[in-house]
Amino acid sequence: MRLGVHMPLKGGFAANLKRVKENGGETIQIFSGNPTAWKMAPPNRKEIGKRIVLAREQSIFPLVIHSAYLINLASSTPEFLDKSSSLLNETMERASLYEAPYVVLHVGNHGGAGVERGLEQVVEIISRSLPRWPGGVKLLLENTAGGGTALGSTFEELARVLRNFTPDDVGVCLDTAHGWAAGYDFGSAEGVQELLEQFEGLIGLEYLFALHLNDAKVARGSRVDRHEHIGRGQIGLEGFRELLRQPWPAEMPAILETPEMGSEWDRKNLDAIRALLR
Ligand SMILES: [Zn+2]
Ligand SMILES: [Zn+2]
Repeated sequence: MRLGVHMPLKGGFAANLKRVKENGGETIQIFSGNPTAWKMAPPNRKEIGKRIVLAREQSIFPLVIHSAYLINLASSTPEFLDKSSSLLNETMERASLYEAPYVVLHVGNHGGAGVERGLEQVVEIISRSLPRWPGGVKLLLENTAGGGTALGSTFEELARVLRNFTPDDVGVCLDTAHGWAAGYDFGSAEGVQELLEQFEGLIGLEYLFALHLNDAKVARGSRVDRHEHIGRGQIGLEGFRELLRQPWPAEMPAILETPEMGSEWDRKNLDAIRALLR
């Protein structure tokens, strides 16, 4: 497992990368563009090339790309769906330029059309898009807190999408704060063992490629997405210890999306995680 942080856009790539390294990070997650905009600036291949070299020099890998929040593959509005699908395709292309192996995507919101219809459509869009995506980049569906009509808060829902794809093409990024908000007990050793067994039974651990390590400000099952510093929220350290001591692949990214990213808190949070790994 390689520990890292989500890197803010502001401040510039090089300076932020340096700070991540100084704070003890081994991997990073970035947005490939403005996360709240439909339009992605055209790729600056020279700049991207420089960034790849910088990351390589500092042994920061793998690079994880988080897709824009606007993308909703479950949208029932044709225009919105069209834009979502195009932006996802563009994001996969951009990830390939960055030589990033993973693009993280929230499953989507059905907006009233129903869970069944929403999940079917997500499968349809991914199936249709997959042949056009560049090789070497995998789409990772992130579990959600389950607020509103958000899909993918349960392993059952994720499984209904993933059973249509192999782990070579589509996988999972498991977020602890979202899982907790959706009712999974990430707070105790038994809880973590149980939820990993459920994941294995419903999806299969071979589909799990990345972790988002976040404590939660809110109560378990609240369906509210509020991240907190590691060990300072409602999840607490016991569950994280159990999660981290699993025999994860050596190169699996475990990324912090804790508050005040890019500040001294990153070091404190990484230190808190490291202390649990000892
Ligand atoms: Zn996350
Ligand atoms: Zn979140």
